[in-house]
Amino acid sequence: MKAHDALYIDGAWRPAGNGDVIEVVNPADEQVIGKVPAGGAWDVDTAVRAARAALPGWAATPPAERAARLAALHRALVERKDEIAETVTAELGSPLKFSEAVHAAVPLAVAASFAELAATHSFEERVGNSTVLHEPIGVVGAITPWNYPLHQIVAKVAPALAAGCTIVLKPAEDTPLVAQLFAEAVHQAELPAGVFNLVTGLGPVAGQALAEHPGVDLVSFTGSTAIGRRIGAVAGAAVKKVALELGGKSANVILPSADLARAVNVGVANVMSNSGQTCSAWTRMLVHRDRYAEAVELAATAAAKYGDRIGPVVSAKQQARVRGYIEKGIAEGARLVAGGPEAPRERGYFVSPTVFADVTPEMTIAQEEIFGPVLTILRYEDEEDALRIANGTVYGLAGAVWAAEEAEAVAFARRMDTGQVDINGGRFNPLAPFGGYKQSGVGRELGSHGLAEYLQTKSLQF
Ligand code: NAD
Repeated sequence: MKAHDALYIDGAWRPAGNGDVIEVVNPADEQVIGKVPAGGAWDVDTAVRAARAALPGWAATPPAERAARLAALHRALVERKDEIAETVTAELGSPLKFSEAVHAAVPLAVAASFAELAATHSFEERVGNSTVLHEPIGVVGAITPWNYPLHQIVAKVAPALAAGCTIVLKPAEDTPLVAQLFAEAVHQAELPAGVFNLVTGLGPVAGQALAEHPGVDLVSFTGSTAIGRRIGAVAGAAVKKVALELGGKSANVILPSADLARAVNVGVANVMSNSGQTCSAWTRMLVHRDRYAEAVELAATAAAKYGDRIGPVVSAKQQARVRGYIEKGIAEGARLVAGGPEAPRERGYFVSPTVFADVTPEMTIAQEEIFGPVLTILRYEDEEDALRIANGTVYGLAGAVWAAEEAEAVAFARRMDTGQVDINGGRFNPLAPFGGYKQSGVGRELGSHGLAEYLQTKSLQF
């Protein structure tokens, strides 16, 4: 795997200020596949200064020209799509087919959508006797996780660039190689020097330095609620804007009229996809008591089929964490119907696709985000009970509702405290806003709502 031993700052690859490195490990076979610099506070400061110096020029660049650069960036990513898929497979462990279909294809679609939005968004509007200007917020500090490594980067960098902001990216330490590939694409797209900067490094070092830097106007963070809370506190103290995309414990509500087999099979696939490392995964399946036994059987059969088809989780740490949750589920009295805590292979950080039945809403595995291939199935008495359970966690990121009639599912979805709901399976829409209610986050990503996060408003009165 190709790895740069440098940071991308001010339009060039430059050595880090210290000699620290991060070893990148392939979670499927535990082999070291590359080394990248572990940037420190000095590097972050250099990158923020470059971004600040580039800001006036880029903010004043007409939106049509920014759109043209974004279109060039999209083309440069398209040229690398095979390399992107291979790189994500190597550093995240996902099967190559999944990397091609999701880890490469989704960020390409998102990059294309922002190239188009940059050209069509109205950065100026008339309100009564005022002209309202939507201006770039300034220098963005972006901190991203490893689970969909390129998507998380594009979902922040593309709208920031479309808005006229400049950016410093600190990607997850587990998956820095695809971030370096992204920087290569930026370079090829001929964005002005300093508009985009990449500092690979550790969260508590480079990430913290970026979140705390006074030269950053907006911190956009995706990751765990625990770190998000700290970043929000730092930003609050400095009175700076923050966007947080955090964890989830989303409900998949199967109403009694639904096609049970389809709802269960799609539901299991949703949870096992990316080895369960999806913040919006429908990790709680809610089934009416009359159809509960049948649903459990269907889910156990479906999960067993995933045995060899999912990749490992990202690291030994994640594997231990997921195993801990499975053991806790057993200890709290849930009934294991597929998988279990034993690692299915000796090498690699694999976890068996696991399904728990007889899960009650207060159990730890029904409340906390596991971030592994673990499905919990809960029983409800009636619709009100289903709604209480669905809304009964601190999270509110996503969800699903299934019913024979779409209108019935929509009526239920309107009452859910969550940011996105798939009706009878749904379909990914790169223009639909994505983000959390409650402790799942602050702000939205994707589409014009995502672009608006990077703008601030000025009104001129006449
Ligand atoms: P994490 O919070 O540990 O790390 C996320 C990023 O924050 C990484 O780049 C990391 O280096 C950095 N970081 C860590 N400590 C930091 C600190 N003290 N200061 C600044 N930055 C720091 O999360 P993770 O384990 O990498 O990712 C898994 C979590 O992310 C899950 O909880 C998942 O739900 C959440 N997530 C949410 C979304 C979403 O869109 N809502 C998407 C993906 C993942």
